[in-house]
Amino acid sequence: MKFDILTLFPGMFSGPFSESIIKRAAEDGLIDIRLHDIRDYATDRHKTADDAPYGGGAGMVMKVEPLAACIEAVRVERCNIRVILTTPRGRRFDQSLAAELAKEEALLIICGRYEGVDERVRELFVDDEVSIGDFVMTGGELAAMVIVDAVSRLIPGVLGSADSSASDSFSDGLLEYPHYTRPAEFRGSGVPEVLLSGNHREIAQWRRRQALQRTLATRPDLLAAARLSEKEREYLEELAKGRRS
Ligand code: SAH
Repeated sequence: MKFDILTLFPGMFSGPFSESIIKRAAEDGLIDIRLHDIRDYATDRHKTADDAPYGGGAGMVMKVEPLAACIEAVRVERCNIRVILTTPRGRRFDQSLAAELAKEEALLIICGRYEGVDERVRELFVDDEVSIGDFVMTGGELAAMVIVDAVSRLIPGVLGSADSSASDSFSDGLLEYPHYTRPAEFRGSGVPEVLLSGNHREIAQWRRRQALQRTLATRPDLLAAARLSEKEREYLEELAKGRRS
């Protein structure tokens, strides 16, 4: 999987991409992340990448020419590339979009700054506008890191074992069950008996029920679309009744 990131601040990426799983994935050749400094594609003497908005108002707008030149330079090398613009106006990034993007060969991610980018960038070059949530940040760099991270861990081989993302939160529409590791007791707080039982069927059932309970408690909106059996729906009804009474 190839990522090309267009930014005015390439230095921001060195920490997150040079540690742990993402670093190893790059070393193993499973992902290839390239950073492009948009300013290198500005052609005037001062390397101007932004300008005042037509129509007036506060803030600056990122100019179309340097971005166009940079996108076109990347496209020469990557034929099937999906172009993503980070913006609070975009489709909300979630696990299903991460899974969709993980199937691509190459992604180009544009990091906006200031008031955002000239609308013609979107018109002429962008396939998807993506937002990482309903809040506004100072730039798209953190959004790009979030996207690269969440997409990369879905690429086969990036996580240690093949199935370690299969039970993650959201993968089946539910939040994940709680985890415990040694010690068996900490400050008077123990580990649920069933997890020490060695009974895999019971452990699986306990985990599933915990996932249902957690989702009902904090993200009931997820339940409508979750893949659930008849029995599980009944269990949820019971839980919901219990919480109401
Ligand atoms: N004026 C814009 C906000 C610009 S914020 C508006 O009101 O919509 C500057 C840049 O930060 C954006 O161009 C975008 O690249 C990035 N950004 C800010 N919040 C974001 C979010 N929630 N998701 C993705 N990118 C975001």
